[in-house]
Amino acid sequence: MKKVLVLEDESSIRSFIVINLRRAGYDVIEAETGEEALERLREHPDVTVALLDIMLPGIDGFEVCRRIRATNTRIGIIMLTARSQEMDKVTGLMTGADDYVTKPFSPAELTARVDALFRRAGGEDPVVTGEIRQPPFLLNTQNRTLEKNGQRVKLTQVEYSIMKVFMEHPGKALSREEILDKVWGRDYFGELKIVDVNIRRLRLKIEDNVQNPTYITTAWGFGYKWGL
Ligand code: CA
Repeated sequence: MKKVLVLEDESSIRSFIVINLRRAGYDVIEAETGEEALERLREHPDVTVALLDIMLPGIDGFEVCRRIRATNTRIGIIMLTARSQEMDKVTGLMTGADDYVTKPFSPAELTARVDALFRRAGGEDPVVTGEIRQPPFLLNTQNRTLEKNGQRVKLTQVEYSIMKVFMEHPGKALSREEILDKVWGRDYFGELKIVDVNIRRLRLKIEDNVQNPTYITTAWGFGYKWGL
């Protein structure tokens, strides 16, 4: 079942989202507060994607995101941001979100973003077994895990997908558009900036020195490259 959690305290916006996601074939769980959302997720561990509003009574959406990520790297998380919260997009992504949608959004935009993340987080990829070994990294494509020097690096599904794209194309400069297409899918119509934010977060996890990255290097004015 395609199960989605919607956390939004404003009931009119919540109903709008719920109606449209149900129309798109999703089984929707609703929550009005962050505390309730965490409770619902405990009851429904099979939720694949969570939409989190930021401004809430009680704990805010960032905190909810942080708490979900502390135990669950697999779920897809989309933050719902207001236009005035430009900076919050970055904060949200840095706390572990995979994407953000700016209010007001159209039903088509919303479902496209959820669909894209659902495919990613839901693991609808063809099952490929094996390992990509590029010392000090070992990517296990069956368990979708990454090790660096034998130590597990905790990645979100999106971060894993980016690593896989890089490790399948060692030494090749990939444009940001190419990375967006490969990781988020061709029908995704988000912003290229999401690639940069995810890579910034990934570098914090895998680079020896984030100030001077040697694994994910920048191809200036173009994109990124795996290796120097
Ligand atoms: Ca709100």
